[in-house]
Amino acid sequence: MCGIFGYVGKNNNAAQITLEGLKLLEYRGYDSWGIAVKSGKKLDVEKHVGKIGSAALKSSIINHKSSIAIGHTRWATHGGVTVQNAHPHLDCTKTIAVVHNGIVENFEELKKDLIKKGHKFISQTDTEVIVHLIEDFLKKEGFASSVRDAFNLLKGLNAIVVVNAVSSEIIAAKNGSPLIVGIGKDEFYIASDLIGISDYTNKIVFLKDNEMIILGKNIKLLSLPKGSRLKEKIEKINFKFEKSSKGNFEHFMIKEIYDQPKIIRNIARNYSDQVRKMSHLVESAKGIFFIGAGTAYHAGLAGTYLFSKNAHMHVNTSVASEFNYLEDFLTKESLIISLSQSGETIDVIEPLNIAKKKGSKIIAVTNSIGSTIYRMADFNILLNAGPEKAVASTKAYTAKLCVILMLVFALIKKEKEAELLLNNAAKEAERILEDNNIKKIKEIAKTLKDSKNIYVIGRGLSYPSALEASLKIKEVSYIPTEGLAGGELKHGTIALIEKGTPCIVFAPKDETFESIISNATEIKSRGGVIIGVSSKKSDVFDHFIEIKGLAQAAFITQIIPLQLLAYFLAVYGGLDPDKPRNLAKSVTVK
Ligand code: GLU
Repeated sequence: MCGIFGYVGKNNNAAQITLEGLKLLEYRGYDSWGIAVKSGKKLDVEKHVGKIGSAALKSSIINHKSSIAIGHTRWATHGGVTVQNAHPHLDCTKTIAVVHNGIVENFEELKKDLIKKGHKFISQTDTEVIVHLIEDFLKKEGFASSVRDAFNLLKGLNAIVVVNAVSSEIIAAKNGSPLIVGIGKDEFYIASDLIGISDYTNKIVFLKDNEMIILGKNIKLLSLPKGSRLKEKIEKINFKFEKSSKGNFEHFMIKEIYDQPKIIRNIARNYSDQVRKMSHLVESAKGIFFIGAGTAYHAGLAGTYLFSKNAHMHVNTSVASEFNYLEDFLTKESLIISLSQSGETIDVIEPLNIAKKKGSKIIAVTNSIGSTIYRMADFNILLNAGPEKAVASTKAYTAKLCVILMLVFALIKKEKEAELLLNNAAKEAERILEDNNIKKIKEIAKTLKDSKNIYVIGRGLSYPSALEASLKIKEVSYIPTEGLAGGELKHGTIALIEKGTPCIVFAPKDETFESIISNATEIKSRGGVIIGVSSKKSDVFDHFIEIKGLAQAAFITQIIPLQLLAYFLAVYGGLDPDKPRNLAKSVTVK
């Protein structure tokens, strides 16, 4: 979601540096953006709706000779997507500006008080109260204590970066989403994401919750709420972020779908040691929980089936944002396996904070080294799937499934079998991506592109596939879809089936085959059109997407044809599959 970037230091092209920093954070998803730069004792602000690349910039701002600037890419939560609502927000005197990630839950009452005191608001955002609050405190105290006192009044999970043109300082405070400080020579960077900073310096301070930092001539770390001085922990990072390009592909989404065979093979070859270590944590735990949001939740749900079937162990899976309401029974012996591509999903971070307080162990399965979840975990497994730029997750999903399969097989001491399964899965992924299969999926996409709605069903390990296929289609094509367990159909959704309603049926040749074919027949009897995803043709299928028999690994690769279908549905609908409306890659607000 929102991206924050700021610079203060010896360079006098702070606005340009900030703009470049914001571009690196674009992948998080945003609807508008802006920059504030010091101009004498005031701040100049430029804001735009839409993408950074498409804005004609006022040369005054970007070429401004200034050594201090902050910028923001906004993902609107409170107030429409307008230039006024874009950040940074200025106080009445135009000497301080704020950028913000999060939601000020008590902004309405704060705003009423501030209006009574004479402050003029120009936006509908929750954020603008922060800058007026600071302005108000500044009348009687210094900049740092004003920021602190204002921040302490905010309810909710927030990260703010404030610039003051008079003191030439940037102050940041947080109790929610990440803020990272980069220390250069006579200069400081601040960003919501390491990727924005790692090109400039490898000396990093990860700001913790309830801390604030003052950046100017020096760096000063303070605790919140009291303001006592803390010693900053400077970490040296020894990795660079891989840059990603579309290559010959038209979009990142299709490129990332094609990355999958290589990723599956990498996990088959290189993960046995780390997965074995992870399995020891699983063995010693009492109560194991997968948590994840969206696609990652579906990977966890598949894990529940795999654990039960192969290791005869019960592992709960919970939607991460619901897990805080289920945590009362966590103990020191509980183990949370958190799944998150970005490693920054606030819905995962929140329950992890509670789990940590209870002393439970945390494993993180993420694609982002150095991310918040990565740093919270007792044990990390990196997916090494390469940067995933398309908002809709594809390769990180299959990578998570591979790691979970390796883990389960490590528990039953069948690592070699897992490697074999994954190597075969990599070959099957390659086969699915061959031209003749792509042609077939394109044809099916053409017949489905004007559908009013699409249903997807599966049973057992294919139930998470049905949920994930449905999510993928709705995310990028905006066609309403519902994924459900085959058995659930007749408990409600079958009422919606009419002549011509498309239904995608996952029917791998496993224990679920007969029952799911019966469900497909029930739909067909009511006029539904059946798209079968199976290794065995059936008379009930109107369209057939062939997957090859892969025993226990079919659930990994059978999603790929559906990722492709979702992609082509978006393209034929004239949509940009990489940047679906309203969605963000890194979901950092509740
Ligand atoms: N709640 C703020 C707004 O709607 C911040 C949104 C964000 O995190 O981008 O402006």
